[in-house]
Amino acid sequence: MIVKTAKIKDTKNLVGRLPAIRFTEPKYIYLAMDNARCPKAELYIKEGDHVNECQVIGMRHGPFFEQPIHATCSGTFVGLEKHFHRNGKLTDFIKIENDFLDTLDSSVKTRTQEEIDALTKEDMTQILKDCASVGLGGSSFPTYIKFQTDKPINLILINGIECEPYITADHRIMLEYPYRIVNAIKYVMHAFKCPHAKICIKSKYKDIKEVYTQVLKEFEGSGIELCCVGNFYPQGWEVAMIKSATGIQLKPGELPTNRGILNLNVSTMVGLYKSIKYNMPVIKRDITITGDGIKYPKNFRVRVGTSVKELLEICGGYKHPEKDKVFILGGPMMGVSVPSDDVIITKTVTSVIVLDKTDYVENPCVRCGSCVLSCPVHLEPVQIMNAVKTLDKERIKKLEPLRCIECGLCTYTCTSKIQVTDYIRKAKMIAKL
Ligand code: SF4
Ligand code: SF4
Repeated sequence: MIVKTAKIKDTKNLVGRLPAIRFTEPKYIYLAMDNARCPKAELYIKEGDHVNECQVIGMRHGPFFEQPIHATCSGTFVGLEKHFHRNGKLTDFIKIENDFLDTLDSSVKTRTQEEIDALTKEDMTQILKDCASVGLGGSSFPTYIKFQTDKPINLILINGIECEPYITADHRIMLEYPYRIVNAIKYVMHAFKCPHAKICIKSKYKDIKEVYTQVLKEFEGSGIELCCVGNFYPQGWEVAMIKSATGIQLKPGELPTNRGILNLNVSTMVGLYKSIKYNMPVIKRDITITGDGIKYPKNFRVRVGTSVKELLEICGGYKHPEKDKVFILGGPMMGVSVPSDDVIITKTVTSVIVLDKTDYVENPCVRCGSCVLSCPVHLEPVQIMNAVKTLDKERIKKLEPLRCIECGLCTYTCTSKIQVTDYIRKAKMIAKL
């Protein structure tokens, strides 16, 4: 079987050293009407209306929560336009023509330290809900729902591990915004009356270690410390991070809050800082545009709603324009591929990887067991694949594919170059029927 895919040749070390380029003045920004968690939406504006930066211009509705849509620049609402969403679907986007005036909405206000000190956990939960704060590490899980736990929290873990190849945006965030991150951690500790927090990074990130060792001296006695964990994939998976940072092994499906742990991604903390300090939603984020399909991989700070096409131009365009491309949003292991570069940066796009498409031959399974040995949740991917091929639903269910975290390791390690993870995804769908 011939499979169209792309080779992974990591450029992480090179791009991680480059400062993020500020590209915050695109002519247009595009905001998704709906997303995977909120499939319905309503607009509060009509064509021709002027909008302020951070103004609520609509509301997304999902089965479990609602999510305000904030304008990420000031300007004029032009109309709806279709582009690819992170979920790979063509979606309606709200198109706003930037007036480059950065006229802020009146809801944005600076809180003094005294005002922040007076905020309760419930106050912060409401602020994060109004600011539509979500996990910016790619999960898009609403932060305010994490805050609604009634379990006592005695440890906050900040995930700065960024373990997938290629992606370096969190690396840059950690180097460039240490004070925002540390202050945001203090806000969360204050909300939960939590005495202790650990910032988790890979041991090999010497530059981050140096910066935080220095910065944390100014926060002596705060209960915040740096925690260096392993350099392997998937160390950033919350179960692996918690095990490394605390020694606690979560049971399958167990929530960290059950053990008194709250974990948040480092980029989420930068957004949370702005929400608590300035009552601002996330209107900008850091992303990595990389892959050996483009000339000059870079890190960027961009407005949410920026077109990827514009960023690719700043990266010098394609290295081999004549070759077909693979576009991955997120990391190469867990990201999703989209059919073209007509993609928009949403809050949850951490990176765009552009690779030249290559053909290779998928061979029959040789029963080497590599996929079984590599699986971090101890599944038997090869057995699941075989059960999917024979459509044996009972066997599929017994093999528990729903525990799969879609880390992609079974595909990556497969001797026969079989897309094993795709079979596991199918098994998950079958098991849910
Ligand atoms: S993607 Fe493969 S290796 Fe990763 S958890 Fe799922 S079955 Fe295991
Ligand atoms: S790694 Fe590939 S070849 Fe080896 S047992 Fe798993 S599916 Fe078969």
